[in-house]
Amino acid sequence: MASEKEAAFAATPSDAPTVFDKIIKKEIPSTVVYEDDKVLAFRDINPQAPVHILIVPKVKDGLTGLSKAEERHFEILGRLLYTAKLIAKQERLDDGFRIVINDGPYGCQSVYHIHVHLLGGRQMNWPPG
Ligand code: AMP
Repeated sequence: MASEKEAAFAATPSDAPTVFDKIIKKEIPSTVVYEDDKVLAFRDINPQAPVHILIVPKVKDGLTGLSKAEERHFEILGRLLYTAKLIAKQERLDDGFRIVINDGPYGCQSVYHIHVHLLGGRQMNWPPG
């Protein structure tokens, strides 16, 4: 599998459908840990921690990444973070966890459908790589 950095630099920033659209439509399998009418959360296929979950809006609405956020996205951005907190509790990450939103090639973003990474289950380091 390509490194995170290689995948990020190979990805084309665009509003085109991504693998996450297929996951949302259940056209390809994923391990769903949370779902409501606005948000889907599933386990990352290449986990970087014992718990590594991606939280995505079901409707992208132009939100390929955080740098594309507009005022109309306030509600969904808050919902993504609040859902991350709910899932952290569900996963019993009582000693803490990390939230990551990668943006653009320098941020190592490889999928252009905004998503929040929830990582936990081990001691994190700072600064991140
Ligand atoms: P990012 O690099 O921030 O854009 O994160 C994209 C994430 O999506 C990476 O951590 C990948 O491992 C993950 N990913 C890609 N394809 C799948 C998939 N089919 N199921 C679950 N996670 C995936």
